[in-house]
Amino acid sequence: MGEKNATEEVLIPRPRKISEIGELYQHSREKWQETHTQRAYCFGSDEVKDLDAVRLQVHGGELTEENAQAKRRAIIRKARNRLQGSLQERGQHIAKELYAFFDGYLHVVSQRTAFEHSGVSPAVQELLTAFDNSSSTNPLPLYRAACQSPIPPELLEPLLIAHVKEFQRKNEEFLQRVPHLKREFYKRALVLRARGLLPVEEPTLKTRFEQTSVQLADPLLRPLNEIYGQYSSDFSLVEIAPDLPGRLEKHTFAHEMYHAFEGKTPAEWRFSEEVETEVSRRLREQGVQDEERTPFIVDMRSGLQFRGAKEHGSSRFHWLNEALTDFFAAEHTNEKPIYVRELRLLRGLLERGKKPLSHGDFAAAYFEPYDAQEPAGQRLAYWNALMKKITESYGSGFLVKLDKFVQEKGVDEALKTMERPDGWKQIQRAY
Ligand SMILES: [Zn+2]
Repeated sequence: MGEKNATEEVLIPRPRKISEIGELYQHSREKWQETHTQRAYCFGSDEVKDLDAVRLQVHGGELTEENAQAKRRAIIRKARNRLQGSLQERGQHIAKELYAFFDGYLHVVSQRTAFEHSGVSPAVQELLTAFDNSSSTNPLPLYRAACQSPIPPELLEPLLIAHVKEFQRKNEEFLQRVPHLKREFYKRALVLRARGLLPVEEPTLKTRFEQTSVQLADPLLRPLNEIYGQYSSDFSLVEIAPDLPGRLEKHTFAHEMYHAFEGKTPAEWRFSEEVETEVSRRLREQGVQDEERTPFIVDMRSGLQFRGAKEHGSSRFHWLNEALTDFFAAEHTNEKPIYVRELRLLRGLLERGKKPLSHGDFAAAYFEPYDAQEPAGQRLAYWNALMKKITESYGSGFLVKLDKFVQEKGVDEALKTMERPDGWKQIQRAY
């Protein structure tokens, strides 16, 4: 392939695009697959581990009870700051995840024994009384209380322990379902491929499928980038939110797996210091040490979504990529799509121009692997062909303008404009 050995070059001054179906990229994916182990990692995992260590030290006589108390306080304070940060940062958006968390809280509260040892403070006493009075299982008052003032450490410690235990239980259940979910998914994908709906070579499909890890996500740890799940192309990782009803879990799984099926444009990348810190943090969350994953290989494109030139720059065509992804997921599961508005906007794009565009042109570009061996201009042949057709239909730069419109004014406004007669001309003129 002419690629240098993966371990020779650690830092490269600029991102250098490499072939998806090439040794360097495949090697990095295999290595990732080897080092990535399934872990039930959730909010509080680290703290509970640290608390256990303190307990052992006390047991072994290495730590006095007094010092242990101080250590435990420091550990809990750290978790509390993170939780408080999340609450302030995410506000209403996190409410769904927090409900489950505070539901666990109620369990803890109902088992008063947890507090017998911890010297209940007046603040906790007040909260407990409030619960007794409300005699409800609604975690809302507690959620509101936590938004306004930090949770008392005496409450947070048993809560963290309960949360970690509950997440581990859910994760074990989930992992038992995964082999079946995967088997059924791949079987169906091959059927759709045979019908001409997935224009991608079977070995490529198989590789992308096999290199994808699946795990349960704790939205409390960090927000998921989609409603019920997420796909991280850099980690070849599908994550699914806990507690989804069966059909929704199946659809979300299919949706995220189609993200895994997307064609990629990988690049060796040198991060800015700031981004490197962020990447390190994410890697640690995944249980991977930085040195296990060098050089940094990042997917600059996944499907029809392109990363901005700067790592922090917004990515392009996110809505379009979700529309395609959810189209395939809906075909796959025969369920209703979730990204309804994005799909309508795609339909508008297909139908409203001077010449109608074909869905197949978008699909071909979506699954296309980047091939660095081809001459410049042909490394993403289907994508280039699609751009040419969109230009013929709407004039130059239209897709970029439409995307800008979506980013500035939202999908709804773009949809309204596209569905007006000749509305697309307004978008074409806007930039
Ligand atoms: Zn998606």
